[in-house]
Amino acid sequence: MTFHSLVLQRRPIKPSSLTIFLVFFSSLLFTSPSFQQNVPLGCYEYPDPTNRYHKIPVNCPIIESPTMGDDFFQLQENSDNNMFVIHFVCGAKNPTLCEKVKDTFEIAGSIISSTLTLNTPINVNASFIDFCKTLGKCGNSDLVTLGGATPTRMIPLQDDDGLVRLYPQSLVKQFRFPKHPQFSTFDITATFNSAGGDYWFQGDPIIGPDQQDFLYVVLHELVHGLGFASSWQDYINDTPEALTPDISVISSANSSTLIFNGFFESAFDKYMIDIPTGRRVSAITDQLNEFAGSGTKFSNIQEFYMRFKSSKQYQLALGMMNSSVTPLSLGFLPTGGTKSSDCIILETSLNPYQRGCSVSHVSLQTYNSTCDFLMKYLADRGKDLNTLVASRGNYKSPIGPELLLFFNTLGYASPGYPNPYRPNVIITTNKFNPNVSKNVDPGLQKASTVSYATVTVTITANSAPTKIPEYTTMLLFIFFSSLLFSGVIT
Ligand SMILES: [Zn+2]
Repeated sequence: MTFHSLVLQRRPIKPSSLTIFLVFFSSLLFTSPSFQQNVPLGCYEYPDPTNRYHKIPVNCPIIESPTMGDDFFQLQENSDNNMFVIHFVCGAKNPTLCEKVKDTFEIAGSIISSTLTLNTPINVNASFIDFCKTLGKCGNSDLVTLGGATPTRMIPLQDDDGLVRLYPQSLVKQFRFPKHPQFSTFDITATFNSAGGDYWFQGDPIIGPDQQDFLYVVLHELVHGLGFASSWQDYINDTPEALTPDISVISSANSSTLIFNGFFESAFDKYMIDIPTGRRVSAITDQLNEFAGSGTKFSNIQEFYMRFKSSKQYQLALGMMNSSVTPLSLGFLPTGGTKSSDCIILETSLNPYQRGCSVSHVSLQTYNSTCDFLMKYLADRGKDLNTLVASRGNYKSPIGPELLLFFNTLGYASPGYPNPYRPNVIITTNKFNPNVSKNVDPGLQKASTVSYATVTVTITANSAPTKIPEYTTMLLFIFFSSLLFSGVIT
């Protein structure tokens, strides 16, 4: 199955992709236009971290929390208080390399565990494989994908501003609801490219100029897996031109029609701000949902696309695309923030828009040389993570202060922020309330020494930070430019 068969239904539907299509849309996110308490809502699973468009609806009825005797919840008594339980598959032939990779996962888990106050273990389904040989994702001579990670399951919860949003399972677990939608075995699915380049591991001799600290890659990806990801994507067009949150459509009981249930944001999106106006991006989602009422029927997905593209709401989606390719346009407003200049600035300098890079990372230009460098889309080579952290001042952790604020805002506790926001399990409404999520003062008043310009994306010559692969099947990846695609490690 390919990514395109799921998301680009404008192509002729082959029998195999039709099957996928039906699976994709056959489960309900909402079963009824009206919301009822205790109705079991659908969740989504993302089996392939290199392709977040491949999502599978799954039933996740609300259940009582298992007792501590349940295997699933059994706390692992690790001496270093690592709350990450790594289930690791190594595709490399070199056992020493596999051991180093496994150790790196443990180190990354310990770093996050020592930064956040995690009360429930996080199960990571991790693999280290040759993307080219195993997945057919071979990159090009300039750039190679190092890894991808995604929440294994996203769970709909009721937010205080009226919208239902999809929450990453690892976070839902931390909320410790007495009753909660059923969990998947794993919380995060992560895969790393054994042919991604010349990795450097802790304990190795001094890092070479072309080596990549593997810990950097793993930490970055685990942060995505914990929820650093916007749902705003182009789910409609081959070449991205319009962004919306996740589109929920279901097939009717007799499969003769499709029922539209609305656009759904991820937890991350609750805090997104349109910086120039100070407007909540969720207000745009609310307007998008005026396209058609929950429960509106369409004869097929093509009709849905056609009608949406000719609607006035499509202009909003085009506008979001414009924001996503205009520097300093979108931000994440952390807890305590009251104005646009308090935002963590997101990556909106890439033009054209790049699936996998745009929006769901921090701005490269803003944070490249700060202690919040970890979540920019390009990885640094030739320096180990400790050296990078030390070179950014006195902050001692690769999880920088803004990134910690992000975690606290999303709902993760930390020693300095023990009581974060919690959404509700019971769904009662899906109508945005602007009096709860208020707009903020527009614009950026921060003095900035960085000169912002749109980065024109080309695949030519050696200009590493501006080169992105043209293929578009990846989300939430971290890249680095590779001299040649020959340094294969297996
Ligand atoms: Zn990333």
